[in-house]
Amino acid sequence: MDDELGGSDLPPPLSDVVCPFCAMACDDLVVARDQAGQLRVTANGCARARTLFALPALPAHCFIRGRAASLDDALDAAAALLRNAGSPAVGGLAADTEGVSAALALAERLGAVVDHAASDSLFHGLRALQVTGAMTATFGELRNRADLFVLFGTEFDRHAPRLFDRIVHPPTALFRAAGAASGFLIGPGDGAAPEGFERLTAELIHAPAIAAALSQLVVGENPRGDRVGGIAMEDLARVATALREARFGVVGWIAATLDPAAGDVAIEAFNRLVVTANASTRCAGLPLGGKGNALGANYVCAWQYGMPLRSRLGAGPPEHDPLRYRLKSLLAEGGIDALVWLSALNGAEVPDTRTPMVVLARPGQPLPYDPEVLIPVAIPGLDHAGSIHRGDGVAALPLRRLRTATLPTAAAVLNALLDRLPASPHPALFRETAHV
Ligand code: SF4
Repeated sequence: MDDELGGSDLPPPLSDVVCPFCAMACDDLVVARDQAGQLRVTANGCARARTLFALPALPAHCFIRGRAASLDDALDAAAALLRNAGSPAVGGLAADTEGVSAALALAERLGAVVDHAASDSLFHGLRALQVTGAMTATFGELRNRADLFVLFGTEFDRHAPRLFDRIVHPPTALFRAAGAASGFLIGPGDGAAPEGFERLTAELIHAPAIAAALSQLVVGENPRGDRVGGIAMEDLARVATALREARFGVVGWIAATLDPAAGDVAIEAFNRLVVTANASTRCAGLPLGGKGNALGANYVCAWQYGMPLRSRLGAGPPEHDPLRYRLKSLLAEGGIDALVWLSALNGAEVPDTRTPMVVLARPGQPLPYDPEVLIPVAIPGLDHAGSIHRGDGVAALPLRRLRTATLPTAAAVLNALLDRLPASPHPALFRETAHV
């Protein structure tokens, strides 16, 4: 597949292309390429996909403290910085499976903390999962069967741009009337709701209380008071009735838009609502959002090291602590003295920190300032083949190379950096699974 576009002949538009630019991982894009290798989404992509696929594949320089440098010199400078680090970290991790795997191998060599740029949202879900468990479904099941969607949040266009095209109102569905699903949007704002949907306005800080009241109403109990989170109880009663009467209901949310201090509490309440509704009909949770292959990065860490992200690798057995090894906190406290930041995909803005940094970034990645070392890398799914994990957690989708790459892959750069560092004094006891 990697050689699929070899040569310079203009190929016909490619169909069924997987988009790597959000966790929906849409696999139906049609992409055309001109003689210069310029890509253009001609069908099925959202505005973000159209913009990012159109990024030109230009050769880009490496930089050392703002001065252009060769790749070899940039790697030497990065190795010198990392060799002397006492408390290093490898973050961002917005890359395909192979890129993440190489980043974790580097972290293992360095004895570094690992964390993803979007892991706050990820860990809201993981903490809730530990407390309540979760009943979810694949995107395919929802697309083909779900007839009611209760969605908490408002920024679906930003976090799951094709949610309605692909899952809620798809053009075809196997076991329900396509386009017939109805639902409720619960969240701030009072704009027009999509067809078949009703908007119930509430601040998402009240999401746990609203979901808890819905659980009570679904089982026939009467919550106290006449409003919850600003929503009239009779309106919530209609939502509960719809959940009870649905053949296949869905409770969805975008973790990134929940209360940052208590997103896990909200997701626990959503998970409980799903379980409650399942006592009388079928219902599934739908976590939405997530960029930069955050879920995939967590999977790679788990299968290679037996621990999720927010772990320290390499210094003996992996050590996981979701609070102590939250990278944003460590950077704010000055607890990191050298940072490798990987941003081959979107969704991993380079942190505005004075911590000496080696940045591996796709071309066009905004930088708050010149890092110690900047190495541009290829974009997975455009410049090289690979895989990413879809937001429903069940499918690793294959990415294709769509044009002749002008930049090295993140994995190649990280492996070259690894070769410049001394072997770890610690035995690699936990990374025995072959890279996928
Ligand atoms: S919704 Fe996400 S995966 Fe689908 S085309 Fe848009 S950016 Fe790509």
